Amino acid sequence: MNILVINSGSSSLKYQLIDTSTENVILKGLVDKIGSVGTNPTNTYTLNGNKVSENVLAKDHKDAIGIVSKIIIDNNLKVDGIGHRVVHGGYKFFESVVIDSEVIRYIEEFCKLAPLHNPPNLIGILSCKEIMPDVPQVAVFDTAFHQTIPQYNYMYAIPFRYYEKYGIRKYGFHGTSHRYVTYKTAEFLNIDVNKANFITCHLGNGVSLTAVKEGKSYDTSMGFTPLEGLIMGTRCGDIDPSIPLYIMEKENLSISEMDKILNRESGILGVSGISNDMRLIEEEYLKGSEGNERARLAFEMYCNRIRKYIGAYYFELGKVDAIVFTAGVGENSPITRKKVLENIELVEIDDEKNNETVRGKAGIISKPSSRIKVVVMPTNEELAIALDTERLLSK
Ligand code: AMP
Repeated sequence: MNILVINSGSSSLKYQLIDTSTENVILKGLVDKIGSVGTNPTNTYTLNGNKVSENVLAKDHKDAIGIVSKIIIDNNLKVDGIGHRVVHGGYKFFESVVIDSEVIRYIEEFCKLAPLHNPPNLIGILSCKEIMPDVPQVAVFDTAFHQTIPQYNYMYAIPFRYYEKYGIRKYGFHGTSHRYVTYKTAEFLNIDVNKANFITCHLGNGVSLTAVKEGKSYDTSMGFTPLEGLIMGTRCGDIDPSIPLYIMEKENLSISEMDKILNRESGILGVSGISNDMRLIEEEYLKGSEGNERARLAFEMYCNRIRKYIGAYYFELGKVDAIVFTAGVGENSPITRKKVLENIELVEIDDEKNNETVRGKAGIISKPSSRIKVVVMPTNEELAIALDTERLLSK
């Protein structure tokens, strides 16, 4: 089947047309700066190996979907189904679903839980429905994999009424990636996924860890929103919840100003003061005492937080078959992987394998004598969405 995968963000639309029988990407592109004033929206795409970059008229997401649909029609491409990345499936969706009016109503309801993400996801769905009405659509939720987390792990110790009134609980994110690498790693290690205990580490722009018990999510580091947990490019992760209250009072800040500080000005960028790009931070770290001191501090904080979570998840799971690294940093940074796992008696990293496992390669980077295996497994959320869409539409 040819599946069009749509990832509709606040001002961008990422798209891929994937042939699920070969897993080949036929068309891949990005409409960027949708609705922007002052600069032109652009569409950059690759079709049959040819790269095209053009200015486009895209005042909203419907225009952007129209542009994608025109490329498909002009090039006689076939679309059998559309798979949408939807960030929040709330308490309702345990797995991907074929989109109907009831599903749309729930995605709308969960806009209140993900006000930055679900509205553009929904607009993407409604625009496809209008422009390609005969093509069936599937929603694949970032939260769905984490719906198996037991209540004692997803509740917060605040008055219970807030859970009942507003649905305040841990939902977890990056679920499509954690699920994909869980299944891929089980296959790679030739073990039954239903018996596999993993700690999956998605280290990208956003960072989250999941404790996978018998193939299912048992605990995860992101929470009610993607702000909780690890230190990220610009997000703070875990902090004492009274800190924002204290700063807001001292500096007379509004809720949205504080929200911006925690989400966009904190993390690696906030501590280092130079960048949220791990490549630059690592460079400074590797210079030792010659390097930028705060970049070094940010790197040490980042790695130690991951290490702390891995330790906690090891005890939660009781037995771990593999620690799995994925996403931009997880797949490409031997230094981070080494630093996170150095001097742990259960883990022995093979330096040579660690150094050569980069740029989309899967591999075991621990020594055969290591009590816990360490695996690098490239994630591919678009392919996971395409495969789910195909599975549901073939039923
Ligand atoms: P993602 O969100 O998965 O696309 O990951 C993006 C992150 O991966 C960015 O913070 C990049 O700095 C980081 N990244 C990409 N390549 C490397 C690399 N070779 N070493 C360290 N970090 C990298």
